[in-house]
Amino acid sequence: MTIAKLVTLRDLDLDGKTVLVRVDFNVPFRPGSTEISDDSRVRASLATIRFLADRRCKVILCSHVGRPKGRVVEELRVQPIAARLAEIIGRPVPIAPDCVGPGAAALVDSTPPGGLLMLENLRFHPGEEANDPGFAQALAALAQIYVNDAFGAAHRAHASTDGVARLLPAAAGFLMQREIDILGSVLNAPRRPLVAILGGAKVSDKIAALQNLVTRADKLLIGGGMGAAFLKANGMDVGASLVEDDRLDVAREIADDAARLDVQMLLPTDVVVTDAFAESASRRVTPADQIPPGWMIMDIGPQTAAAYVEAVRDAGAVIWNGPMGVSEWPPFAEGTNRLARALAALDHAVTVLGGGSTAEAVDALGLTDSMTHVSTGGGASLEFLEGRTLPGVAALMNIPSDYAA
Ligand code: ADP
Ligand code: MG
Repeated sequence: MTIAKLVTLRDLDLDGKTVLVRVDFNVPFRPGSTEISDDSRVRASLATIRFLADRRCKVILCSHVGRPKGRVVEELRVQPIAARLAEIIGRPVPIAPDCVGPGAAALVDSTPPGGLLMLENLRFHPGEEANDPGFAQALAALAQIYVNDAFGAAHRAHASTDGVARLLPAAAGFLMQREIDILGSVLNAPRRPLVAILGGAKVSDKIAALQNLVTRADKLLIGGGMGAAFLKANGMDVGASLVEDDRLDVAREIADDAARLDVQMLLPTDVVVTDAFAESASRRVTPADQIPPGWMIMDIGPQTAAAYVEAVRDAGAVIWNGPMGVSEWPPFAEGTNRLARALAALDHAVTVLGGGSTAEAVDALGLTDSMTHVSTGGGASLEFLEGRTLPGVAALMNIPSDYAA
């Protein structure tokens, strides 16, 4: 079997070339405005952009923003993002008002070596999400080389992540490369013991990841809303906790796999419960098998948090996806926060985090830099943990993605 290798920026002769760079600049805006609330996605691709500019490339940036569904939506123009990039990088970032066509081509022509140009929102064209060959061709016509640094969009087979990669010499940017290297090594050749921590709202979101991780991890720690499904599958009464009853069998199967594969699986032994799903609801801590009728699980309890902190203490590597409770609300963030602090304090373990809410919780504590890696791709990192070959990665390696099956 040949193992396809990712082509990286250092593998190509880039000097003076015109390079189309797919970035994930799908930044969050403050509600009802075009004011960027978090520019970390822009910062995450700076290394790639600077590297290309330093090689006197014409750097033609393209991204999607939001979900305009193939139409022009004024609030989803790239202008504020290009302005932020210009501010951070200290160079002008002009905008091509359309991402394809003669207007864009003329602006590419007039871009000086080492200069930047940002194309308008890719998803203003229906051909982007449809992976339309004509649209991919139109993008490819603008450049000589294609670079994909948009790990956050790599789980989508769109024209700018798949089609165009098959038309031009293609390479992964530094961010894409780092994401794949770190997520790949922690999954496929981790330091041991490998501790996988899964939380978040629903079991159904994480089934495939659980099924894959249970075959790879030495310990599996379960928290969040989905903990209720595992407790209920064990015969406990979880009160008014939201449980997907059609997923109890899957929860049982995963627990059986864990037992068969000698994976230590930890479930909450105590929980923080409330009588309503509200930040200000009255709360109590109860043993997991004594949840009062009508009350619901909002966080892991202090005893569970202590056990989970203890379980990661000897870890060689940790993979964490999904908060332990409703971490957006401070009264139910304690379990998540204690775990985050414990991971940050580990000296020798590789700590890899994925998931939007998980990343936010860790960032709110100022601990992002204390982790080995916090993935920039929520959906993409989850699908990576499922063991799938992401279409955007497959396209860079010129192999078929396993999504087609
Ligand atoms: P991530 O974005 O890190 O992948 P998810 O999207 O799977 O995580 O889940 C995050 C969501 O799960 C958060 O909105 C959080 O409020 C919710 N959640 C966590 N624990 C619970 C719980 N016990 N009950 C209800 N929702 C929960
Ligand atoms: Mg999420």
